[in-house]
Amino acid sequence: MIKTLISIGLWAALGWLIGSWLGANIGWGLFSFGLVCMILVSGLQLSRISRWVKDIESPPPPSLGPWDEVLAPIYRKLRKDRDNIAMMQRHVDGIMLAAEALPDGAITLNESMQLTWCNQTASEHIGLNLETDRNHSILNILRAPEFARYARQHQWPGPILLHLQNDNQEKSLLVQLTPYGVGQFLIVTRDVTQVEKLETTRKDFVANVSHELRTPLTVLSGFLETLRDMPAESLSAEQKARYQNMMLEQAQRMQAIVADLLTLSTLESSPTASGEPVEMADIIHKALQQGQILSEGQHVFVENIAQDLCVTGIETELASAVSNLLTNAIRYTPKDGTITVSWYLTESGHACYSVQDTGIGIASQDLPRLTERFYRVDRGRSRATGGTGLGLAITKHVAMRHNAELTIHSRFGAGSLFSLTFPPSRLAR
Ligand code: ADP
Repeated sequence: MIKTLISIGLWAALGWLIGSWLGANIGWGLFSFGLVCMILVSGLQLSRISRWVKDIESPPPPSLGPWDEVLAPIYRKLRKDRDNIAMMQRHVDGIMLAAEALPDGAITLNESMQLTWCNQTASEHIGLNLETDRNHSILNILRAPEFARYARQHQWPGPILLHLQNDNQEKSLLVQLTPYGVGQFLIVTRDVTQVEKLETTRKDFVANVSHELRTPLTVLSGFLETLRDMPAESLSAEQKARYQNMMLEQAQRMQAIVADLLTLSTLESSPTASGEPVEMADIIHKALQQGQILSEGQHVFVENIAQDLCVTGIETELASAVSNLLTNAIRYTPKDGTITVSWYLTESGHACYSVQDTGIGIASQDLPRLTERFYRVDRGRSRATGGTGLGLAITKHVAMRHNAELTIHSRFGAGSLFSLTFPPSRLAR
């Protein structure tokens, strides 16, 4: 404003000076010319300003005379606001990324329990599609009746466990609803399918172990009671010997189960060690010697063993896997059957230990379950031959700890082929 007044004053002074020299008309003319020039310059500046307003993100044009003082603080404020907005946007983006990175599902709902946002994990847990499900009531999306009952409560002190079918998969979800802000709700979902499975496995395992031990214990205590209650002279020496043998058998069965359980738990709890070179041929020969004793000359053994083929591993574990497969072949192959034991290098550079028998074989529906603990196709036969139902579970564990693969090929009534294949990285020589 002051600059404008000074300019008008200068033109008026110039007009008065020239007017008093060349006449009043020329003075007034010069003054009017000055004013017109000022108006024209102002118009030009305004048009530059209006061009700048269209692209307000860029700095204002320079040399706008009196407008500089107006535009400079506006532009400074604009820039500060822009920086603040960018900072807040980064903050919001960070929060959104953190919410996406949560291992749990997160869903936000408005006061009518309609979906406003959810992270990727929640989409996977519940099968949500944010684009199509936004603004729909969660009660229409998550249709489990127990969830509807839970959501209609007024307080949610704890989570609810839901079993949902999603993509043909049964999922167990822990769902917790929490109010926040003004009339808004947060749902947190946690996938506990694995935890539940582990818990079921643990319960089954305890039940199985108890069951396995209860039978021999019942038999043992039955005999002991009989012996205690009967007068000593009422039993013949032959009867006594028979009872004692039966008791010994049951005690040995329990011993075998406990020994196998200990082996399994050691395998599960000890860290995988790379081990050292193991002379597999020696181990297999020893297992064969023991196998022939167990066979009592009832089977034909065929050996096909590479002498100098070694793998890196833990000798005791490998010995137990080698002998488990061989004793199984003997126990499940009737008299006069043939058992072929091989240890060789495959064309692809893998080392393979295989035991083939001409025994009773295994039906295809049983094959996938053979390595489960205590799974037996024929309980009676397994027990009669001193089986614990843990041999293949141990063998599979040993295989895993040596990066090896246990494969089973069998047909009911037509014999079986069990193989342990070690990767080339495990070859010691
Ligand atoms: P078990 O102590 O009962 O032999 P394993 O874990 O070693 O336990 O084997 C599980 C089951 O697999 C056995 O009960 C048996 O039914 C079956 N099985 C294992 N090896 C053979 C085989 N060579 N031929 C037929 N069946 C077998």
